[in-house]
Amino acid sequence: MIKLQRNPKPEIIINNEENWNEALKNAISTHGSYSKIPKEIKEKLLIHYKHPSIKTSLFSSSFQKCAFCEAKPAESGNIEVEHYAPKSKHPDLTFCWENFLPACRKCNEHKDDHDTILEPIINPYNNDPEKIFYYEDIRILANNDNKKIGSLTIEVCGLNSARLMRPRADILIGLHGFSEAIAEALKDYEAADTEAKRRNRKRKIKEALEVIEMTATPSEKLSGFCKFYLSKCEPYLKAKSIITHEHT
Ligand SMILES: [Zn+2]
Repeated sequence: MIKLQRNPKPEIIINNEENWNEALKNAISTHGSYSKIPKEIKEKLLIHYKHPSIKTSLFSSSFQKCAFCEAKPAESGNIEVEHYAPKSKHPDLTFCWENFLPACRKCNEHKDDHDTILEPIINPYNNDPEKIFYYEDIRILANNDNKKIGSLTIEVCGLNSARLMRPRADILIGLHGFSEAIAEALKDYEAADTEAKRRNRKRKIKEALEVIEMTATPSEKLSGFCKFYLSKCEPYLKAKSIITHEHT
């Protein structure tokens, strides 16, 4: 999970949310409750929040990934417009832009109608997941300062289920490989006996760093996991400091 920046509210919501809310409110009062609105009527009332312009703006803010698990649609099913506070329990937030999150089908199903108003979970638009979560091997965990809300988020979204542990394990194998390559490149660099060799080997380190850092760019799947790995990876940090501080 990574911090996301919410895009400005789309025009279509600004122009229509009052009417959409009014129609839904009327249907709730006509039928007695949100759950009692007949399916077909409900579908017609709800379709607006799935408007293409809403999806485009929402999904671009998460780099077309799930806001919770950072999976891409190919791995975890289509990304959908998910309500942070479930619309079944908080219908007044059905068309609220600040209540929307792009989520994969798996997280969406797992989260189901968990009431985030009663028991909040992390919203990556409002909270910085990097300050809340850490990883132990392929498991995501919440730090002590945020134990309750972090652990609940992991549980509610199923962030330690096999569907996420497996890709983390695959990525970890790749990252170990990159890290070993950097360690080797560092050894060569330190053993360089001429200035030309030093420069050449430094360039190789720089290239290796560029490859490993790609895994942690926000558009990549599970980039939060990769970024955390790099923050603890000694060969990476050593190489980074050589590249950053030495000017040759
Ligand atoms: Zn997900």
